[in-house]
Amino acid sequence: MDFTDSPEEAAYRAKARAWLEQNAPAFASTAPSGPLEDDESAADMARAKGWQAKKASAGYAQITWPKEWGGGGGTPIESVIFSQEEAKFGVAAGYFAIGLGMCVPTVMAFANDEVKNRFVGPALRGEEIWCQLFSEPSGGSDVAAARTRAVRDGDDWIVNGQKVWTSGAHYSDFGIVVVRTDPDVPKHKGLTMFWLDMKSPGIEVRPIHQMSGGRNFNEVYFTDVRIPDSQRLGAVGDGWKVSLVTLMNERLAVGGGTGLDYSVIMKLARELQTENGSALSEQSFREKLADWYVQSEGLKYTRFRTMTALSRGQTPGPESSIGKIIAANQLQDLANSAVELEDQFGIIDDPAVAPLKAAFQSGLLSAPGLRIAGGTDEILKNIIAERVLGLPGDIRVDKDVPFKDMPTGR
Ligand SMILES: Cc1cc2nc3c(=O)[nH]c(=O)nc-3n(C[C@H](O)[C@H](O)[C@H](O)COP(=O)(O)OP(=O)(O)OC[C@H]3O[C@@H](n4cnc5c(N)ncnc54)[C@H](O)[C@@H]3O)c2cc1C
Repeated sequence: MDFTDSPEEAAYRAKARAWLEQNAPAFASTAPSGPLEDDESAADMARAKGWQAKKASAGYAQITWPKEWGGGGGTPIESVIFSQEEAKFGVAAGYFAIGLGMCVPTVMAFANDEVKNRFVGPALRGEEIWCQLFSEPSGGSDVAAARTRAVRDGDDWIVNGQKVWTSGAHYSDFGIVVVRTDPDVPKHKGLTMFWLDMKSPGIEVRPIHQMSGGRNFNEVYFTDVRIPDSQRLGAVGDGWKVSLVTLMNERLAVGGGTGLDYSVIMKLARELQTENGSALSEQSFREKLADWYVQSEGLKYTRFRTMTALSRGQTPGPESSIGKIIAANQLQDLANSAVELEDQFGIIDDPAVAPLKAAFQSGLLSAPGLRIAGGTDEILKNIIAERVLGLPGDIRVDKDVPFKDMPTGR
C-alpha cells in the first residue's frame, strides 16, 4: 500500500490545486447547507452549471474520459486527486453525478455515434442533466424485478408503470430507464434499457418530500409513454446486462467519507459543558470516540488501498463496498450522539443558528438514505461475504422461473 503521492501525482495535485485556487472561489456556495428555498435552488443550480462548464473548458469535467469526447484523457488516480482538492472549495457537483457517473457512460457504451455526438458534450458541460430510472415499488435492491412494462408498437415501444426514488427527475432533461419487454422468460432475461426525454408526453414526476425538508427524489409515472426503438440501449432482452454497466459505475461513484468524523464531534464535545464539565471528559463518550477513531483509521487505509489500486492502473475490487457501509453507519451514529450531546438545543436545525451550520442535524436526517442508496447495508454485506470473503452465494429461488409466474403477493 502506498501512503504518499508519486512524484507525478504530486505534480498533478499541485497543478490542479493552482487551477482550483484561480477558478473555484467564484463558483463556491456561501449559503449554509440544508433544505433550500426555490429561489436558492435556482441560484444553486445556475452556479453548479457554471462551474461544470468551467471545468469542462479545462478538461477537468470528466478527467478519465477520452479527449475526443471532451474529457481530460487522464487516469483514475488523477480523477481522485482532483476530487479531493475540489472538495476543499465548497463548489457543487451533485446535480451531474448520476448523469456523468452512470447514465452517460451507459449511453457511451451502447448508443450509436449520432446519439453520443448529440448528448455527451451537453452533459459534460452541465447544459443537460440526466437521471436513472431503475428502482420501482417492487424492485429496488433487486433491479431485475422491474414491472414497468414496454410493449412494441411499430417503431415505438409503449411504456406503462411506475418508477420511484428517482433522484433529480424533477430537474432532469433525459434519463435511462429499464423496463420489462418479455414477461414469459426469467426475470433477468426479459428486460430492455432505453434512454428517454423526461418531457415526453405521459411522464408525470411527483416529488417525494423527505424528513430533512428536501425534495431530492421523486415518483415517476409512465402512462402510454412512446419511446422510439432507436432509443434502445443494447439488444431487446439485454437490459440486465446493460444495467450492470450502470450499477458497476454506481458502486464506484458512491462511497468515501462524509466529512463528519471523530475529530469534528471531539471539537464539539470540548466546547459543550455538561453538569460534570466538558462533555469530552465523560467516560461513555470517550469510549464511543475511541470506536469512531478506529473506524476512521480503518476507512482511511481502505481508501489508501483503493487509491493504490488506481495508482497502479488496476480496478478497485469489491472491498470499496466496505467504505460505504462503514461511512454511512458511522455518520448516523455520530450524528445521533452529537444531537444528544447538544441536549434540548439539538432540536434546532436552522443552519444559521445551530453549531457547525447544523451539519450533524442534517447528517442525522440524511444518514438513513445514505445507508440505502447505491446498495443497502444488507446488499453490501452480501457482496462483501460473497466476493471479498468467498462465502457461499445468496439463495436465489426465482432465478429460472418465468417472470409472469413469480408470486406477487397480490
Ligand atoms: C437517497 C436515495 C437516492 C436514490 N436515488 C435513486 C435513483 O436516482 N434512481 C433509482 O433507480 N433508485 C434510486 N434510489 C433507490 C435505491 O436504489 C433503492 O432504495 C435501494 O436499491 C433499495 O431498494 P428498496 O428501497 O426497494 O428496498 P428493498 O430492495 O425492498 O429492500 C428492503 C429491505 O430488504 C433488504 N433486502 C433486500 N434484498 C435482500 C437480500 N437479497 N438479502 C438481504 N436483505 C435484503 C434490504 O437491505 C432492505 O433492508 C435511491 C435511494 C435513496 C435512499
